[in-house]
Amino acid sequence: PSGMSSGVIDAAIETAYLKYRGLKDGKNADYIPVLAEVNPELFGISMVTLDGKVYGKGDTSSRFSIQSISKVFTMARVIEEQGPKALMEKIGVDATGLKFNSIAAIELRKGKEINPLVNPGAIAATSMIGGATYDEKWNNILQTMSDFAGRELAVNEPVYKSEAATNQRNQAIAMLLSAYERLYFDPAQSTDIYTRQCAVNVDARDLAIMAATLANGGTNPVTGKRVVAAETVSHTLAVMATAGLYDDSGIWLFNVGLPGKSGVGGGIIAVAPGKFGIAAFSPRLDEAGNSVRAQKSITEVVNLLKANQFLVE
Ligand code: GLN
Repeated sequence: PSGMSSGVIDAAIETAYLKYRGLKDGKNADYIPVLAEVNPELFGISMVTLDGKVYGKGDTSSRFSIQSISKVFTMARVIEEQGPKALMEKIGVDATGLKFNSIAAIELRKGKEINPLVNPGAIAATSMIGGATYDEKWNNILQTMSDFAGRELAVNEPVYKSEAATNQRNQAIAMLLSAYERLYFDPAQSTDIYTRQCAVNVDARDLAIMAATLANGGTNPVTGKRVVAAETVSHTLAVMATAGLYDDSGIWLFNVGLPGKSGVGGGIIAVAPGKFGIAAFSPRLDEAGNSVRAQKSITEVVNLLKANQFLVE
C-alpha cells in the first residue's frame, strides 16, 4: 500500500521490538500446566503484506500452541459452510463482556447469544463444523487452519495432553450448553476436538500469514489459494473487532483500531483489511489472558504505519 515501503515496515517492526524486548510484565498461563514451562523470554513479531512478502524480528520461528486464535478459523469455516445467519442464530455474535471461560455467560443467557471467540461459543462452533464424525470434524478444522497458514500444521501433543487432563471447566461448559440444546454434537467429543484445535503448533510467521489471508479477503497471499469467501471474512473480522481480546476487546480496539485475536499461548494476530496481517508472540500474559508484549508491539507497529482503520488524515 502507498506509503508503506519495505524499509518503513522493517523500521517499524525493529522499533517495536527494541522498545519492548526488555519488558517482563505479566506471567505465563499456568492453568494448562505445560504452558507454565514455556520460555517467557521468547518474543517475536511477524508481518505479511498482500504481495506475500514476509517481515519479521526476533523469535518468529519458535513454535507455540495457537490456543484461542484457532477460534477465528473454526468460526470462519462455520460461516463459510452454514452462512452468517446460522452462526448468529445457533451461537450468537455479541460480546459477552466476561472472561473467556465464563460459565456465568452461558447461564445468564440460557445458552443463547454466546460468542464464538470465547470458550462456550467456540466449543459450539466446533460442534457445528462440517463432518459426521469426530475424525471428519477434526480433519476439517486442521485443514482449514493449514490452508490459512499455507503449510500442514500439526498438534503439539504435550500441550494437548496437558490441557485434556485439566479441562474440566470446558467439559462443564459443553455439558451446560448441551443441556440448553445449544451444542450440536456430542459434548465430550466436541470439547476434545476443541482442545486439540487449541493445541495446534504455530510460529509468529504462520500466524502473520493466517492474518494476512484475512486481510486479503480470504485468499492466502503466499500460496494464492482461496480459503474462504470475502463475505465470510467480513463477518469474521467484525466478531474479532468486538470480542477478539476477551473482556479487554474494547481497550484493544480503542488503542489499535484493528480486529485482533489473542490466545493464552502468548500469540496475538491483528488484521489491517486490504493492507497486511501482523502477529506477535510472547508468553507473559496480563490479567485478561492477553500477551503483554504482543499487544504492545502490535499496537506500536500499527500506529507507526498509521494503519488504524479509524484513522483518517
Ligand atoms: N485452550 C484454552 C482454553 O480453553 C484456550 C483459551 C485461550 O486461549 N484464551 O482455556
